[in-house]
Amino acid sequence: MVERDKTQTKADHRRIVIVTGGNRGIGAAISCRFATNGDIIAINYNSGKVAAEALVEEIKAGGAEAFAIQANISKSEDAKRLINEVVERYGRVDILVNNAGISKSTMLMLYNEADWDALIDINLKGVFHLCKNVSRQMFDQKSGVIINISSLSGVTGLAGEAPYSATKGGLIAFTRSLAKELAPFGIRVNCVAPGAIDTAMLAEIPESEQEKLKKIIPLGRFGLPDEVAGVVEFLASPAASYITGETIVVSGGLP
Ligand code: NAP
Repeated sequence: MVERDKTQTKADHRRIVIVTGGNRGIGAAISCRFATNGDIIAINYNSGKVAAEALVEEIKAGGAEAFAIQANISKSEDAKRLINEVVERYGRVDILVNNAGISKSTMLMLYNEADWDALIDINLKGVFHLCKNVSRQMFDQKSGVIINISSLSGVTGLAGEAPYSATKGGLIAFTRSLAKELAPFGIRVNCVAPGAIDTAMLAEIPESEQEKLKKIIPLGRFGLPDEVAGVVEFLASPAASYITGETIVVSGGLP
C-alpha cells in the first residue's frame, strides 16, 4: 500500500485552513471552496474587516466554521500572531494559502521606491513570514500543504508590471526551493499562477486596456475567482499528494 500525505481529509476530521486576504476576490472564493468541504477557515484580512465578518457569517449560515483574523502579513509580528492564534485554537494548521497581495500597474520610469518596497513587503516578505512560522508547526505535525498565489506575469512577464512580476516570479522560485526543503517532512508547497481574474485588482486596469486584454485571451473572457479556487482545492487535496514545487497556470490559455 502506498503511503500518501497525511494532510487531514473530511474522512478523518475537518482540516484547519488559513487563507490570507481571504475576505474578498480570489481569497474569498478560496475560503468558500474550503468551507463547502466542511473545513475550518481562518479568514485573514488587513483593512477589510466588514467584508471579512460578512463572509464569516455567510460561511456559518452554510453550516461550516470560519473566523476572521486581522493581520498585516508584511509585519513579522502580525504574521507570527496569525499562525500562533490558529494553533492555539485548533492545535494545528493543515493548509496555508498565501493569497494576499497588491499590484501596481505603470511604466517602470513612473514607479517610485515606496511602490517597490510595498510590493516586496506584502507579496514576498509576507509569504516569507508566514511560511517561516507555519513550517515550524507543519514540521512538528509532519504534514501540511502550502499554496502560494503567484501570477501569470511572474511566469511570462507583463508590460507595466515589472516590479509586481518580480515579486510573483520570486514567489515561484521560493516555492520550488521550499518544496524541496520541506518534502522530507511530509509538507507540500505549490503555486497557482492566475491570468486575468475578475476582481477589484483587475478593475484597477483602465477599461480600454481590459478590452484589449480580453481579446487576446484564447477562452475569450476573464477568469472567475472560483476557477482559481478550484485549482487551489485540488492542490490541497489527497489527489495532488505527489505534486510539490509546481506552478499551475490558470489563464484561459493566455501565454
Ligand atoms: P484583491 O481583490 O485586490 O484582494 C487583495 C486581498 O489581499 C484582500 O483580501 C486584501 O485584504 C489582502 N491584502 C492586501 N494587503 C494585505 C496585507 N498587507 N495583509 C493582509 N492582507 C492583505 O485581489 P485579488 O485579485 O483577489 O488577488 C488575490 C491574489 O491573486 C493576489 O496575490 C494577486 O496578486 C493574485 N493575482 C490576481 C490576479 C487578478 O487578475 N485578479 C491575477 C494574477 C494574480 P483587505 O481587504 O483587508 O485589504
